[in-house]
Amino acid sequence: MNVLAIGAHPDDIEVCCAGTLAKYQKQGHSIYIVLSTNGNQGSNVVSREEIRSIRKREAEESARILGAQISHMDYDDEGLVDTPESRRSFINAIRQANPDVIFTHYPEDKSTDHGMTGKLTTQVMLSLQGKNIRADVQPIQKLPALFYFDTGGGVGFVPEVYVDITAEMDIKREAFSRHASQLDWMKVFGLADFNEYLNLVSGYRGLQAGVRYAEGFVACRLWNFMPDYKLLP
Ligand SMILES: [Zn+2]
Repeated sequence: MNVLAIGAHPDDIEVCCAGTLAKYQKQGHSIYIVLSTNGNQGSNVVSREEIRSIRKREAEESARILGAQISHMDYDDEGLVDTPESRRSFINAIRQANPDVIFTHYPEDKSTDHGMTGKLTTQVMLSLQGKNIRADVQPIQKLPALFYFDTGGGVGFVPEVYVDITAEMDIKREAFSRHASQLDWMKVFGLADFNEYLNLVSGYRGLQAGVRYAEGFVACRLWNFMPDYKLLP
């Protein structure tokens, strides 16, 4: 299968679904990561242009650990809005990956780029197959399943299905650790220890699921795109 994860910022994928992606990868599936924004506001230390290139490099190193191909839409951080052009970017990116399963942000996520990434992904699902849709990549034949991943700190998100990532937790930590530039930035929000954050969030979802560590998901319900939980690893 082709598995696609669409994140708003470099590091969102690692926090929310890297364990699940690593599990797919171990099973021999192809993993694709697309980032909608470049995260160029994520620093109080260096300029927008510098942090953009640092974060791109960090995301690429992390993707290598996850065995994933990565591509970048390169919208400005906090700059993603719903326009014909942004919809076209999402259609192109999804068609390019030709996915069987898609993971992205919960549309109700209050972090602007997160919610917008989830909303845009959902909105273009019915446009993936149409040849008259304005896009640059040919239509795909598949009707991929779409799963939403967790919000920051799990706020306002109630998973309906879980993936046991206990055996993939080390890979998840390793991938996340590549986003070293975000240690300084996260201190602005009172977060000093990345591993503690991962352990808490993945441990809490694990507690709910009856395993050590887990990632939780909610399936998108859309005509012709009803969830197929058997596609989860
Ligand atoms: Zn984010």
